[in-house]
Amino acid sequence: MKMKIETLAVHAGHTIDPTTGAVSTPIHLSTTFERDVEGTYSRGFMYTRNNNPNREALERGVSMLEGGETAAAFGSGTAAAMALFQALAPGDHVLAHVDAYYGTTRLLREIFLRWGLEADFIDMGNLAAVKKGLRPQTKLAWSETPSNPLLKIVDIAAIAEVAHGVGALCVCDNTWAPVLQRPFELGADLILHSTTKYFGGHCDVAGGIVVAKKDSEFFQRIRAIQYSGGAVPSPFDCWLVLRGMRTLPWRMRAHSENAMKVANFLAQHRKVNNVHYPGLSSHPGHEIATHQMSMFGGMLSFELRDGRDAAMSVAAKTKIFTRATSLGGVESLIEHRASIEGAGTTSPEGLLRLSIGLENSDDLIEDLDQALR
Ligand SMILES: *Cc1c(COP(=O)(O)O)cnc(C)c1O
Repeated sequence: MKMKIETLAVHAGHTIDPTTGAVSTPIHLSTTFERDVEGTYSRGFMYTRNNNPNREALERGVSMLEGGETAAAFGSGTAAAMALFQALAPGDHVLAHVDAYYGTTRLLREIFLRWGLEADFIDMGNLAAVKKGLRPQTKLAWSETPSNPLLKIVDIAAIAEVAHGVGALCVCDNTWAPVLQRPFELGADLILHSTTKYFGGHCDVAGGIVVAKKDSEFFQRIRAIQYSGGAVPSPFDCWLVLRGMRTLPWRMRAHSENAMKVANFLAQHRKVNNVHYPGLSSHPGHEIATHQMSMFGGMLSFELRDGRDAAMSVAAKTKIFTRATSLGGVESLIEHRASIEGAGTTSPEGLLRLSIGLENSDDLIEDLDQALR
């Protein structure tokens, strides 16, 4: 039966426990598993770093949700990105997104260039620049959309097509819009999630996952890095992420509805001169977003007319929004990106980023309204 996404989210990766009938999957803390008399492991598990029932369930669940063949879960989104780069070889070229998550670009710049990878950082929203940046040695083209913190939109289908033209794989970091955009249907070969964000959904677990459309030789290298490198999530972490996935489609819908209302409120506020949200028709990526996203997600940013001090003052005055980094939880967060990124930041000084939670949107708007006063 071909299930719809809400049904998949609830059931993928879940089975009734055959020994106890438990409806909620038990957490298997055992680090080691019994060997058969013949010396084999017919039940599929040997040692927890290699695999364990909770990680296996999470990987199966997330691959089914994304429509991929297989997945490898890690202890963080960054560890998942690290495995992707480690699966390449010295001399391989990565076409990276200038607007990618700063931890991802930092990995490339500070670690992998020293290990012989080559990388160019370009605006993946500019297709002519993408075509120019691709080389015969390009093995990976990175699409990440919407971007941080300006919510820039990249056309995943267009990037995948030109990347395939030179034999490169297209990765999509889908952390900001799970469920809302379906990268495999748009031609991506690999999907990365920081499951710390919307998958976990409650700011209480760190994790990452690489999902592959096809169980290729390249993916097998990622699998080998997962168990020989050992940057694996604990069984409890896997359990929490898979539990979060069960409500993910409904949460994404509610995050998106709330964010749209907050964006509309901010867009007409006299102290705000720019709202970055792909759901607004004024947003430069609105057209593409309308094609590749079912809704526009829970993240937005806006700029205060009066710059840094005004932004800091708003962040100091909110009562429901908590001043904190990260995103994707049930509670709304507000963040001044320029000061958290520090020297070399490209974030505008007057910009505040919001992770819109699941509170009532009227309360969120009232809170911003009083903080802007
Ligand atoms: C947070 C984030 C990451 C990194 O994930 P961690 O779990 O923090 O290591 C990667 N990509 C995006 C888009 C993110 O928001």
